[in-house]
Amino acid sequence: MNLIFVGPPGAGKGTQAKLICSEFGIPHISTGDMLRAAIRQGSELGIKAKEYIDAGHLVPDEVVIGLVKERLSEKDCNTGFLLDGFPRTVAQAEELGRITDIDYVINVDVPDEKLVSRIAGRRSCNKCSAIYHVSTYNKMTCEDCGGDIIQRPDDSEETVRNRLNVYHEKTKPLIDYYRERKLLSAVDGDKSIQEIFDDICSVLT
Ligand code: ADP
Ligand code: ADP
Ligand code: ZN
Repeated sequence: MNLIFVGPPGAGKGTQAKLICSEFGIPHISTGDMLRAAIRQGSELGIKAKEYIDAGHLVPDEVVIGLVKERLSEKDCNTGFLLDGFPRTVAQAEELGRITDIDYVINVDVPDEKLVSRIAGRRSCNKCSAIYHVSTYNKMTCEDCGGDIIQRPDDSEETVRNRLNVYHEKTKPLIDYYRERKLLSAVDGDKSIQEIFDDICSVLT
């Protein structure tokens, strides 16, 4: 089962991706997590990506395409995978289409005004990438791995506006792209985490 999650920043893609991947036993491929890992390692790619990410811009297509191609060639992707946050441009989708087939594209839809408070309150573990929200978890360490809880530098209100604009301009066209190819299923992301999970499962089974 080859899956893609699209949707605006803060829609809950990462939260649902973790649940779906553990339910179906497929790897969770988050380009955002991969880029943040590269930044932590201080690699050349990380240094280059950081400027774009901190400004709320997209990292250039060729950089993320290279990362994803390499990751999809690993053995654990043979039986399926979930791409979270990739593709984000039509050019990325076209390139992905040349390397693999996709079974489902899930569009997690949430109105913009709700996204800002989701993102402003987002906290994450800097070790295992677990996702939290201050309204429900306000500890300094991760309950899964004991890692430090941090706020992403690109989750500032100023950057969020940029990211939403970028989403509308560059990523939203993917919805039509995949609808035309009969791969798109829309899921209402303005519900509880459990309800959204159930809705996604019923699309997939
Ligand atoms: P969110 O979950 O809030 O949408 P991500 O963790 O997916 O954020 O991505 C964080 C940032 O990493 C993006 O704002 C962008 O700068 C960069 N990024 C992640 N995936 C891609 C991609 N497929 N193409 C270009 N840039 C990307
Ligand atoms: P994305 O990967 O799409 O950027 P995340 O999964 O990181 O989104 O979620 C963004 C924030 O919203 C996190 O703080 C997360 O805990 C919270 N969140 C996720 N799903 C829901 C939901 N259904 N209702 C309320 N808050 C949610
Ligand atoms: Zn953790």
